[in-house]
Amino acid sequence: MTSALSFTLQQLTDAPSASGIVRRGTLQFSKKAKTIQTPACLTYTVRGSVPHLVAENVKLLPVQLLQVTLEQFVEEKEPMSFKYPHGIHKYLNLELDHLVFCDMRDPMKQEAVTFNTDKYLSVSTHGGVRQITPEMWAQAMKAYNPDMCALMADIVTDNDAKLKRIKRSVDRSLRWLDDILPKAKEIGIPVFAPVVGHTSEEERARSAVSTAERDVDGFTVNVIGLGLGNEATLKLAKASLRNLPKNKPRIVYGFGTPEGILDAVASGADLFDGSYAYKVTEQGRAMIFKFGEISADNTARDKPKTVNLWDPSMSHSFEVLDSTCGCYACNASHTKAYIHHLLNAHEMLGPILLMSHNVYQLDNFMASIRKSIDDNRFESDLTRFMEYYNHVEEGDGMRNHQDEIDVESLGTPLKKKRTLLL
Ligand SMILES: [Zn+2]
Repeated sequence: MTSALSFTLQQLTDAPSASGIVRRGTLQFSKKAKTIQTPACLTYTVRGSVPHLVAENVKLLPVQLLQVTLEQFVEEKEPMSFKYPHGIHKYLNLELDHLVFCDMRDPMKQEAVTFNTDKYLSVSTHGGVRQITPEMWAQAMKAYNPDMCALMADIVTDNDAKLKRIKRSVDRSLRWLDDILPKAKEIGIPVFAPVVGHTSEEERARSAVSTAERDVDGFTVNVIGLGLGNEATLKLAKASLRNLPKNKPRIVYGFGTPEGILDAVASGADLFDGSYAYKVTEQGRAMIFKFGEISADNTARDKPKTVNLWDPSMSHSFEVLDSTCGCYACNASHTKAYIHHLLNAHEMLGPILLMSHNVYQLDNFMASIRKSIDDNRFESDLTRFMEYYNHVEEGDGMRNHQDEIDVESLGTPLKKKRTLLL
């Protein structure tokens, strides 16, 4: 029987510089005859929905592989979605050829929850903390039948965790892997096994080596919220990645920014969570950066990577966000001034247009990275990108637009009222 998921590594560049190993691959899903070119981003969802967008918007976007988070579906003791007989794709009203990757925790907010034990994993749901057992996980996957899934992992969320706790998390994750893997094989869903190890390079290596001994289809490497700087975090990710077999795909969590994605690509990662598009949208910003298109003789520096649509100067900017963009917002000639107006009026269309643009642009960024690797210029494109753009964290475009309580409407939070000058 051919595997439902196969990964072909087309190119592997052992770069001499600090960048390390750059990978270019293809993920093939045999049941749906679909391929995903890597490096790529998964599309971020909240409760199975791409934030701000309905199915008609998603259809117009290059969305192929969606990340669905199980913890957002289990607030009830017996989740109703487990009882739906036609799988997660139909439950979420996705197109038939959309691919779904199901993981346990939200890659955007991996806040600490109460402790895990050998019997269960604690997750944060809309209704409070819930414990997921390996049996419950298997029940969910059987009902959902996603195109690929990640297994349960004992991820340490305490930044000051002692080595003893980290070792226990490696052992416990391996035990869960051995317990659940036969169930996943029975259901026939390709499995990505979590590689843990928190802040210990040695434990990350041990987790990677031991996990790779199991018959899994790929790996997830998580470096979210370790409370360390970029360099130290990257070092830890590398400790996991270099101990994994080259011929299997790796999803990396914790490198959501453009710079982070580029660093992780240079360290041998294949797939990323796509939450950056959502984060930028929530700030009222639109991505305007490009990769691989900056000529060598361009001496410009510190260019912004996003544009803030809340900025008052946008009110008389009658251009689209990006004239080369193929998203609905830009294609249908929505001006920056109009989007600024929509944001100020708190109209739903504002975030819809921004999210459409940012999802499109994030996909475009990943396509540019793949093209750059194909053309053997990733190293130089990366250097140029770092020189050309500003790398300070984007400010919050929403600043000065916080919600406030409106006493006249019985304490219902309202967006800040504006004073109209007549
Ligand atoms: Zn656009």
